[in-house]
Amino acid sequence: MRISDLSFLVVEDHDFQRETLIEMLKGLQAKDIHAAANGQEAFDFLVSHRTPIDVIISDLDMPTMDGLEFMRRAGEAGYRRSVILVSALDRTLLSAAEAMTKAYGVRLLGAISKPITQASLEALLENHGAPEPKLQARFTQRASYSLDEIMDGLENNQFEPFFQPKVDLATRRVVGAEALARWRHPQQGIVPPAAFIKILEDSGKIDELMWMMLRKGIAFCSSLNAGGLESSIAVNLSLKSLNNVDLANRITEISRAHHLDAEKVCLEITETAATTNLGAALENLTRLRMKGFGLSIDDFGTGYSSMQQLTRIPFTELKIDRSFIANSSTHEPARVLLSSSLQIARQLNIKAVAEGVETQQNWDLLQELGCDLAQGYFIAEPMDARSYMNWVQTLATNTTSMFVA
Ligand code: C2E
Ligand code: CA
Ligand code: CA
Repeated sequence: MRISDLSFLVVEDHDFQRETLIEMLKGLQAKDIHAAANGQEAFDFLVSHRTPIDVIISDLDMPTMDGLEFMRRAGEAGYRRSVILVSALDRTLLSAAEAMTKAYGVRLLGAISKPITQASLEALLENHGAPEPKLQARFTQRASYSLDEIMDGLENNQFEPFFQPKVDLATRRVVGAEALARWRHPQQGIVPPAAFIKILEDSGKIDELMWMMLRKGIAFCSSLNAGGLESSIAVNLSLKSLNNVDLANRITEISRAHHLDAEKVCLEITETAATTNLGAALENLTRLRMKGFGLSIDDFGTGYSSMQQLTRIPFTELKIDRSFIANSSTHEPARVLLSSSLQIARQLNIKAVAEGVETQQNWDLLQELGCDLAQGYFIAEPMDARSYMNWVQTLATNTTSMFVA
């Protein structure tokens, strides 16, 4: 793709530097150039602009909303086109920012230290090429919705689970799927959880989503097993939902109603904040475990006192956060954290799952380090129920595939 065909957004608080960048882009024949003075302005522009921006060139250190937060919010809201990070910070900080950006799903063309030259900019733009087909999600959706809109959507049955496979690294066998919430919005298309989970949690309404996810997820898993495709199902539980002491009994009722053994259901829990009602959370988790459900500690390594949780809760699975996987091949500290997490899992005799496995290189390293299960775009993206069913059925008949149903 030619530079003259691309659209750009330059995010830089320093007027002179912003103008210099714009002049450089013009020198490279760019025509469609937009500018913002900080992350907030840039984010507002991205969500309101009619057509997606192909390349964002962003400074890191800016007032109001810095480049890190801007990258996170853009990634969470589904921005999947290219980014170039620019900074006067030293190289280690820049590579940490690089790693973070990738972990949020943004496609990074590279990072450059200031002062920028036209040649260094041109070299990075050559990496742009055609967008990867898997990551073609357009950034045309709204990034936020009101609680009323979300509740209407729930009442009108517009929410459903998408399914992403979990694969055994040693045998390449698909062992189960994680259910990830999606809103099939009548105007906006498929809306990701970043646009509604927090609002539901903050307003005390997350349980409504949870019951839907449990019912539909368990029913789907049950139909896979009935069709001869042995499978487990993982559902995400918000810590807020653990306040209800009746939770374990109700989840048991749902799996009984669908004739699915508790062993086939795993509940993934992320600790994003201190628990308000620790007693109830522990009671629920212990009871769920007693009844045979699997318990997974999600985003291990990033949560609030992950280590302490391990000693209190009878987890059966440790799910290593994708930021450690994404950078493990190139970034020594991430690799160290990854292998020590795997060691912790081994010593506690629980399964280790790597999420965000995106490349063959990630896969090979995890296999070498003895991780049990893998999940990520390298295997498959989350899919709706019908696509998932087709995907596993194709594996079951295709002998040349890398994975096995
Ligand atoms: P999570 O539980 O850590 O789920 C994994 C997220 O990583 C999913 O994002 C998935 O689409 C994404 N992912 C999968 N493979 C890759 C990969 O190879 N690379 C990258 N960069 N990302 C990958 P998603 O579906 O947007 O969900 C985001 C978060 O929303 C989930 O993170 C989970 O914490 C939360 N969530 C999703 N569904 C529910 C739900 O039903 N209830 C609750 N309470 N939270 C949910
Ligand atoms: Ca999860
Ligand atoms: Ca996770």
